[in-house]
Amino acid sequence: MKKIGIMTSGGDAPGMNAAIRAVARRAMSYGFEVYGIKYGYAGLVAGDLFKMERSSVGDIITRGGTILYSARYPEFANEEGQLKGIEQLKKFGIDALVVIGGDGSYHGALRLTEHGYNAVGLPGTIDNDIPYTDFTIGFDTAVNTVVESIDKIRDTAASHERTFVIEVMGRGAGDIALWAGVAGGADEIIVPERPFEIKRIAQNIQSLRARGKKHTIVVLAEGVMHAQEFMDQLKQYGDFDARSTVLGHVQRGGSPTARDRVLASKMGAYAVDLLKAGKGGIAIGMEKNQLTYHQMTDLFEGRHRPDLDLYEINKTLAK
Ligand code: ADP
Repeated sequence: MKKIGIMTSGGDAPGMNAAIRAVARRAMSYGFEVYGIKYGYAGLVAGDLFKMERSSVGDIITRGGTILYSARYPEFANEEGQLKGIEQLKKFGIDALVVIGGDGSYHGALRLTEHGYNAVGLPGTIDNDIPYTDFTIGFDTAVNTVVESIDKIRDTAASHERTFVIEVMGRGAGDIALWAGVAGGADEIIVPERPFEIKRIAQNIQSLRARGKKHTIVVLAEGVMHAQEFMDQLKQYGDFDARSTVLGHVQRGGSPTARDRVLASKMGAYAVDLLKAGKGGIAIGMEKNQLTYHQMTDLFEGRHRPDLDLYEINKTLAK
């Protein structure tokens, strides 16, 4: 193996750049040539590739987003799209690839492996919703961004004795809500993985108020419902001075935390080592603080499990 390609695909996440840097520099340390593929599978098919030098990844470890850009390109699910991508890989003489993205991106990577181009996946998403890894690249940064926002909202909530419903990202997963909820001292955390009853939440808010608590903070995962809808339901059970805040895309941006940079560096280097060893069709994880890898096919069947201990713990802490 002499030439490897790197791409970022699907939703962007802070730490993707640190992963690109790690893959490129590790590969170069083995004497491999490295090609950056822009705009995910769309760029692969269009031949939007460039040869990377050590300096191509200089000064990017601190930056959010992805220097390779990302795109959604559903055509890659069809064989026709895949064959066009393979033509480009042949043209550039690329033997193997690292794909940084989510499980959609892993499907494309598996197709390429089946066509004889080994591909290794790195989990890059703020949602943390990938099976066989405790953490994804970007999750820690997103949680820290949310916590910073909760801290600020708490100041204004306390001054006006208000209830705030804060909607956070995570797609179908409650990880961001759980981690940011515990770290931000939320009174209630609402996640898709646990049932909830609006009436009980309304009663809890009222009893906290009666005890003299100046503010109430509800962290709501977007996978449950929108904050406005939640508030409308809440207001059916009492006269709340409640506001909702949707944090939105700020959660996807920003300089990655040290934890995300280290995770990305470890995973990126490991991906290259696995390609060097002739492996493909696999995705890297960090499980119990150990680097691991699993077949992509296992990931498609596996289920991500958030740390629901956090949910239980919070019930006793938010009193
Ligand atoms: P994520 O990787 O974050 O889950 P998407 O689901 O949008 O994001 O997938 C990213 C890209 O991966 C898609 O735009 C498409 O190019 C490619 N992709 C997704 N599903 C498949 C599939 N079944 N087969 C081949 N490529 C796919």
